[in-house]
Amino acid sequence: MNHQPRKRFGQNFLHDPQVIQRILSCIAPRPDQSLIEIGPGQGAITLPLLQAAGRLTVVELDRDLVGPLAERCRNVGELHILNQDALKVDFCALAPSGSTAALRIIGNLPYNISTPILFHLLKQAPCIRDMHFMLQKEVVERMAAAPGTEAYGRLSVMIQYRCQVEPLFHIGPGAFRPAPRVDSAFVRLLPLEQPAVTVRDEARFAEVVQRAFAQRRKTLRNALKGLLDDTGFAAAGVDPGARGETLSLAQFAALSNQPA
Ligand code: SAM
Repeated sequence: MNHQPRKRFGQNFLHDPQVIQRILSCIAPRPDQSLIEIGPGQGAITLPLLQAAGRLTVVELDRDLVGPLAERCRNVGELHILNQDALKVDFCALAPSGSTAALRIIGNLPYNISTPILFHLLKQAPCIRDMHFMLQKEVVERMAAAPGTEAYGRLSVMIQYRCQVEPLFHIGPGAFRPAPRVDSAFVRLLPLEQPAVTVRDEARFAEVVQRAFAQRRKTLRNALKGLLDDTGFAAAGVDPGARGETLSLAQFAALSNQPA
């Protein structure tokens, strides 16, 4: 394909056949499944996915890639191309009617907008069976991080609230063209049937978590000023002198469940 990779679309195309094979074995696609790929690009994963599943929906923002991709896949299977911004796609609307947790979402995501895409998908977690993503290695480390570690932050809490996180393997920059400046990792996310902890108001939970990590060096008492007073901390059993990075999911839930 004669295409000049575009930095603004986070285009680093996968070309290593061994990595592609490893990705496919982790996903293990089957013909009766509802597969959706975000950012198919030149089709490195698209073609083998389509060969295995026979049917595939892809969401690609760069309209210059859409025609050549359709051409490459013409005789391979039934490809539905949505030339749209994945951040604006209602993924649940793509699920078969009457199904729950049916979608299998896949993507070597554009690294510049991977976090917004993850948050967009989390809102639609009940429609999703699993997700397999190639991401910047550091992002996967943050997703899987435990409390008290440097990588633990808002992304860790919000992802682990909704999903089981399974880091699968690392990939060096040489597997892509052009090579990114960072290492990559492949990860599986399995949406939980019920969120990991009981939260009364998800918007408040999200705000507590966001504020707790906005300035990591602040104590929770300062970071959550206006949201919680010392009585709230005492009722939740959380030390107001602690920092957000030390709190478990259950402690964040306990804090956000206190009345404003
Ligand atoms: N899947 C291909 C591969 O592995 O070689 C391409 C991966 S490349 C890292 C990311 C892809 O996402 C590009 O094709 C890019 O055009 C597309 N993309 C970027 N922003 C997007 C968005 N907001 N919505 C959908 N696709 C997007």
